Amino acid sequence: MSKKKVLITGGSGLLALNIAIYKKDDWEIFLVLNTKKVSIDRVVTVKLNLDSLGDVDEMVESIRPDYIIHTAGLTSVELCEKHRSNARISNVITTRNIAKVAGKYDIKLFHISTDHFTRSCMPNSSEEDIDIPLNYYAQTKLEAEFEVNRYSPDAVVLRTNFFGWGPSYRQSFSDFIIKSLRGTEKVHLFSDVFYNPILIDDLADIIGSLFESSFTGVLNAVGDDRVSKFEFGKMVASQFDLDESYLVPVLITDQKDMVKRPKDMSLSNNKLKEVLGEKSYSIESSLKKLFTQEFDGRDKQVNNAVVHEDPALIYYGKQSIDDDDFDAIMAGLNRSFLTQGPKIKEFEDKIAKYVGAKFAVAVSNLTAGLHIACLAAGLKKGDSLITSPISFVASSNCALYCGAKPNFADIDPRTLNIDAEEVRKRCKELGNVKVIIPVHFSGSPCDMKELAAVADEYGAVIIEDAAHALGAKYKTGEMVGSCEHSLMTGFSFHPVKSITMGEGGVITTNEEEIYKQLYRLRSHGIIKGNDPLFIDEEATTDGLPNPWYYEMQQLGFNYRITDLQCCLGISQLKKLDRFIARRVEIAQTYDLAFKHLKNVKVAQKGTRALSAHHLYNIRVDFKKLGISKNELFELFKKEGISLHVFYIPIPMQPYYRDKLKTDISDYPNALKYYREAVTLPLYPDMTDKDINNVINAVKTIIK
Ligand SMILES: *Cc1c(COP(=O)(O)O)cnc(C)c1O
Repeated sequence: MSKKKVLITGGSGLLALNIAIYKKDDWEIFLVLNTKKVSIDRVVTVKLNLDSLGDVDEMVESIRPDYIIHTAGLTSVELCEKHRSNARISNVITTRNIAKVAGKYDIKLFHISTDHFTRSCMPNSSEEDIDIPLNYYAQTKLEAEFEVNRYSPDAVVLRTNFFGWGPSYRQSFSDFIIKSLRGTEKVHLFSDVFYNPILIDDLADIIGSLFESSFTGVLNAVGDDRVSKFEFGKMVASQFDLDESYLVPVLITDQKDMVKRPKDMSLSNNKLKEVLGEKSYSIESSLKKLFTQEFDGRDKQVNNAVVHEDPALIYYGKQSIDDDDFDAIMAGLNRSFLTQGPKIKEFEDKIAKYVGAKFAVAVSNLTAGLHIACLAAGLKKGDSLITSPISFVASSNCALYCGAKPNFADIDPRTLNIDAEEVRKRCKELGNVKVIIPVHFSGSPCDMKELAAVADEYGAVIIEDAAHALGAKYKTGEMVGSCEHSLMTGFSFHPVKSITMGEGGVITTNEEEIYKQLYRLRSHGIIKGNDPLFIDEEATTDGLPNPWYYEMQQLGFNYRITDLQCCLGISQLKKLDRFIARRVEIAQTYDLAFKHLKNVKVAQKGTRALSAHHLYNIRVDFKKLGISKNELFELFKKEGISLHVFYIPIPMQPYYRDKLKTDISDYPNALKYYREAVTLPLYPDMTDKDINNVINAVKTIIK
């Protein structure tokens, strides 16, 4: 007889790894993995994200397993409560996808469920005794059961609570007890939470037996003994000959801050025994097996199976998305408009109000925004534009889009922003500067009064590149974007910026004419409605407007943002002040930690009270330190930290150097800064632990 093909999801989890190792000679096993890599002799691994029905379908169609064991899910009660949308996708949507595909190809599904929705004050609940879930984990797991029932009615749902030898990143309850007691650490265990644990190998045998059975429906797959967590701890200590005096009984009723959990999760396994016949699943015998497993090296087998753990790197920047954002997008998808709907205007109004400008025009991204801002400012062939060499290429490319010439003025080494005196010199030299684009580098505001004076002197206009600076203030107190000292200001909503819309940008202004220009240019240069139309006889019939009529009066673009993105933008905007406050906090924590490090010079320290803190840059003298920047990056990577450098000076880019003949030696401050610059991670969702990791790495590597 050929071996049965068994597909197991959640392949790097405690359950799947143990089943695979235990059953690899009996079954032909396929492990589905997401981010981690697993290698077990004779076990096939498949890399797949289960959140896509199409991908799951394709995989199952190609493998055609006889059975699917669905173990994947988000099991941390705390995480499920904190990230509900994430929990829903991990526990409900993935299960729906698996159940649909199992149903479609008529494959028997074994769905691993939980003992978390039992009647809280009743021992040994039967399969029928279900209560309203007490937490979001339980809710999603119960919903998952409904999905299984709906799409794969022949499936077996196993409600269980298991233990065994887990990998280092996913300790089981018994691992935790054994490890702590061996390390002579105190272990606090609940003496008022009851359950009946089962050893994973027993659970695997149950599934194997059910392959042969015609049973469908819900089955409690648990051990024979109802114990408290504390009692279980004592039994583990006794079996492994460990000092049980380190076990401390505590009460769940005293845990006020913990996510609510049922106190009695114990289940009756009577039905299991009816279906499969009488067999013992006592804790005592299970723990004996667990002991033998260690002797046989199961713990090492499990750990060695994981050949690669995706290093969870801390990046320089990252979006912050919460459940409200998810809800906003879902509601947006449910609306009649996906693009060009009412949320665009609402978002624009909210941005304008936030920064204190009269008008705001949202666009597909700031690069597009700077392009039409330059057009609206009248920038054309024969004109020059000046911006900072320490910026993203979008700050100067907008000149090229308009046929104008981009130029640069060096930075002030103290502020890292464009130096107003240098701008003045350039304006004088060039004589045709139409637009000046100061960049509030890292969110730290430029001295706009000085720049405005230079612009006035040479008849230029200012468009602020505030991609980093939503939420920042000028020295004079107004919000960046109020256009107090400029014609226009542009913001970006790329995922690393202050708030995100996936991609997106906005231009603010106080000039109505500019606003109208931007509005037209963003959408093909088309006019309709109340604006003056050119061809009156086409626009009206007997003096009444023709409802279908529009005119393209100038060359514009499709630089529109979508209604859907604005739903996200509005939701994100509500959290902007909190994001900025957290960014300030992190920057100040770094400041304090690096204060006495002589090889670490912190940039832009003077603007902590004003800056939006998009980036945290330090300057390092690599010659003095005796290592290269590349080596520094490697050393940080080993500590789980991904560094970055902002920016490679634009005049150094080959396109600029070769086609536009820019010469970096004209900008010595920018070059010197670039050679020394290192950007450290800074984003609102950084945990205190992340921050400490960064600080410790800086202290040990740069000193
Ligand atoms: C991000 C960024 C841009 C471009 O914004 P997009 O929305 O990505 O087009 C322009 N200038 C600076 C300084 C930026 O950081």
